[in-house]
Amino acid sequence: MPIASLLDVLLPPACAACGLPGAAVCASCLDAVVPLPPPWCGGCGAPVPIAVERCGECRGRVIAGARQALAYAGPVPALVTALKDGRRRGLAPVLADLVAATVDPPPPGTVLVPVPLGARRARERGFNQSLLIARSLADRWGLAVAQPLRRVREGPSQRGAPLRERSRQASGAFAAGGRDAVPERAWLVDDVRTTGATLADCARALRAGGTRDVGAVCVSRAERARGTTDAAAPVRR
Ligand SMILES: [Zn+2]
Ligand SMILES: [Zn+2]
Repeated sequence: MPIASLLDVLLPPACAACGLPGAAVCASCLDAVVPLPPPWCGGCGAPVPIAVERCGECRGRVIAGARQALAYAGPVPALVTALKDGRRRGLAPVLADLVAATVDPPPPGTVLVPVPLGARRARERGFNQSLLIARSLADRWGLAVAQPLRRVREGPSQRGAPLRERSRQASGAFAAGGRDAVPERAWLVDDVRTTGATLADCARALRAGGTRDVGAVCVSRAERARGTTDAAAPVRR
């Protein structure tokens, strides 16, 4: 058993956000979780002054109907971090409950696709938090999970790769060719959306592999701080 899971079992349970002994997340922290307030952009899920089909940030992008469930505030950053760093993997179903309480499920037959980790990070961490969240969400929504994507940007550069391979990688760090077939209809799943670049890269890779409709659902949305590229954002994998 990995040490993190062992600790989960041995330590007396306490709220992952405030440390209060008892449940994995205490009642007052659960109460403090706030859904991302509407209206949202119909394309990328950004909070916008009035509901629009596409906002300036997401026009021309390949994801439709993306949603982010929770404001990145209150206990949410602590919960996401505790899941991600491996201390509290049991939070995946808790976060999935919070998402499912806020976001309507995708059409039947949609396959949930977690944003993949690179091979090195996957080895270091030993698990992919987005996969854990996707599995918990799939249980609640009665959907399947597939892992058709792989991260290609972590390894050596593209130079020297066969031309076809290069054009498949050209859009970003991801490509089809993961452990599962590319589904026809997919929703990407990730913990926190920051700039949306990762989701867009994954969506392009799915489309290149044959997916017709790509949506996305993230637990939360961290806004970029002004004048930086990726700020209020948590450190990415
Ligand atoms: Zn608490
Ligand atoms: Zn938008």
